[in-house]
Amino acid sequence: METLSSMKTPVVELSCCILCEICIELAPHAFAINNSDFVEVLALDDYSDENIHEAIKNCPKDCITWE
Ligand code: SF4
Repeated sequence: METLSSMKTPVVELSCCILCEICIELAPHAFAINNSDFVEVLALDDYSDENIHEAIKNCPKDCITWE
């Protein structure tokens, strides 16, 4: 398990994303489908909130990582 810190940014590995939209459901302030039909991480000052962690945990493909 990675240590989570507010300084980190989630990154979606697009090649493994199946567009299930679970991350968007759980954290719509942080994830969205962009015009190219990819999940995009929205710009936030702080990604440390619980909903984002839940979204990352619940990605069925485990394709959201921290950078
Ligand atoms: S939860 Fe994972 S697989 Fe589903 S849309 Fe988000 S990044 Fe893609």
